[in-house]
Amino acid sequence: MSRPMRLRGIGASIGVAIAPARVLGREPRRVSYDRIDDAAVSTELARFEEAVARSRSEIEAAKQQLTQEHGSQYAPILDVYLLMHGDALLIDAIAECIRNDGINAEWAVARVVERLRAPLLRDTSSYFRERAQDIDHVKEHLLRQLSGEPRIEAYSGGPFVLVAHDLTPADAVHLLAPPTVGLVTEIGASSSHTAILARTFGVPAVVGVGPLSLEIQDGEEVLVDGFGGEVCIGVSAEERSEAESRRARFVAFLQGEQANGSVTRDGVEVRITANVELPTEVEAAVESGAEGIGLYRTEFMCLDRPEPPTEDEQVDVYRAVATAMAPNNVVFRTFDLRGDKRFHADRLEAREEEWLKSQVRAVLRASSEGSVSLMFPMVGSVDELVRAQALVEECREELSDPSARSAVLPVGMMVEVPSAALLADRFARHADFFSVGTNDLTHYTMGLERGQDRGRATPLDPAVLHLLARTVAAADRAGIPCALCGDMAADPLSLGLAVGLGFRQISVPVSVVPLARAVIRNATVQLTREVAEAALECESAEAVGELLADRLGEQLDPLRRSPERS
Ligand code: PEP
Ligand code: MG
Repeated sequence: MSRPMRLRGIGASIGVAIAPARVLGREPRRVSYDRIDDAAVSTELARFEEAVARSRSEIEAAKQQLTQEHGSQYAPILDVYLLMHGDALLIDAIAECIRNDGINAEWAVARVVERLRAPLLRDTSSYFRERAQDIDHVKEHLLRQLSGEPRIEAYSGGPFVLVAHDLTPADAVHLLAPPTVGLVTEIGASSSHTAILARTFGVPAVVGVGPLSLEIQDGEEVLVDGFGGEVCIGVSAEERSEAESRRARFVAFLQGEQANGSVTRDGVEVRITANVELPTEVEAAVESGAEGIGLYRTEFMCLDRPEPPTEDEQVDVYRAVATAMAPNNVVFRTFDLRGDKRFHADRLEAREEEWLKSQVRAVLRASSEGSVSLMFPMVGSVDELVRAQALVEECREELSDPSARSAVLPVGMMVEVPSAALLADRFARHADFFSVGTNDLTHYTMGLERGQDRGRATPLDPAVLHLLARTVAAADRAGIPCALCGDMAADPLSLGLAVGLGFRQISVPVSVVPLARAVIRNATVQLTREVAEAALECESAEAVGELLADRLGEQLDPLRRSPERS
């Protein structure tokens, strides 16, 4: 491909880096198939067990390094992989495959992993697709150990941008340190473990760029723009200096008038809270200045386990989170598991109902530790909401502790399917609060499948904006709070639009909290309102995008390109 070349991906860790590329792992790993005769099976099993042990100690070492350098809060990322090294569905199944089918360990690893990955990859939930990636990482570790290949050595020499298909978390801990100044990966999402670690280490990263390793040559200069999710090869001096100036503008924007918290220039307070997936993020949420947790995605606690954690385990987690955030509020969302595991409050199997009830009881028991709310996802009918509310009352009755029985627990719902937005007035009679999920709302409204839409779903579509306006208006009339917690608010201009549409509580990924607060400090409600009114009249998402860039860009987008280059 000719130069200059631009590749688009997901900006997973903000910042700009320019350095020569070091390309990792171009060759797909080849796995050979060998039959093992009965006499050799025990030797093969021993070889596999040794590989598991070596792989485990490599991850243990990475965990120790991570804890020493960045604190213990990130260790659970690697714990997940350690757990998988003892998982019956994975490790025992591979051993069984070697024993019963008489095949070599490499082939058994590949076969079992493929069996586990396939259904996860077909799932519409990014949560499950990412679990498939976790299994892939374990496979990579095991195959590397079986081949006797040494682990990838950290490079020495000058700064460089690491270009890889993906990194296993243990490799990420090892490699995302100087002289690595940037990261580009072919696969991944902003919530994948590699992305979380890149943010932890402050390495600008763009992930999910697609099959690029054939395009980028080792040693050529690469510009990683972790703000805009862009990778440029063959950059001009002008582009280099523009990237530098965007970085400087961004830092100044974040730092400006911090004392004002998150109040707009015309004096309106907009509360910025954090979306959290793992307990490890809570400390970072507090440090980021988040005024609470607007969305705690509890399904991430079901990581790599066939059933949710027990009620007591959940109480421990919820209490710790509520205590860490006190006096600010934490909104725990009940498990939002898609596919065949999806919990719908109105049509639960007996076992699922017990899971949901033990979760609700756990939240009630934890609520004495701080300010806690409970939220149900995917509510599509008023009946469902009423049933969910009744379930909370049943759970109260089941508790023996009088303080948990009488705990103050606002119960709200996510507005993320069009039926909820359309009848928001009726839902508002029963809900204590709304939280709008623009990720699902956009997909359901536009008839697109999540994870399969190739980036075509945008909450800026006027149809979605009308649903948002309708929901805020209904909540205002009913006098209940209405927050926004979808990814729409992670973009500065869309966040401005949300303020104009009337949202006064906005929840964003932890890494975006400082940016979101800075956006609010720079915004005026008067201008955003005018822009929102105009956006509702537009005919397309493109027109809304242009309107936002035109009217709000100067005030709210510290990352915009110079007009002559955009
Ligand atoms: C949403 O749908 O916008 C949302 C916040 O929920 P999730 O992304 O977890 O589905
Ligand atoms: Mg959702």
